[in-house]
Amino acid sequence: MLFLPSGKRLWIVVGKDNEYWTDPDLGFCSCKDFYFTTLSGGDECYHLKSVRKAIEENRFTTIKFADSEYVGYLQAIAEDNVNLLGRS
Ligand SMILES: [Zn+2]
Repeated sequence: MLFLPSGKRLWIVVGKDNEYWTDPDLGFCSCKDFYFTTLSGGDECYHLKSVRKAIEENRFTTIKFADSEYVGYLQAIAEDNVNLLGRS
């Protein structure tokens, strides 16, 4: 997802059960692995790796949004995370 005019980007990885939000520039992912493994000094999660690979190989789809929608998406991500972490 590309937000204009700022050029901010969010990457969505569609997994088996969920969609995950990642930002390879910040090294962020919304999945559990990221919270429990990556943040405690472990390896990057599968989604971050696959986003980096997709960027390298130019295998991604760009959807453009207005900057005004960015905050709304970040809020949606935060809520998703609460749901994910509460689900285990
Ligand atoms: Zn992940």
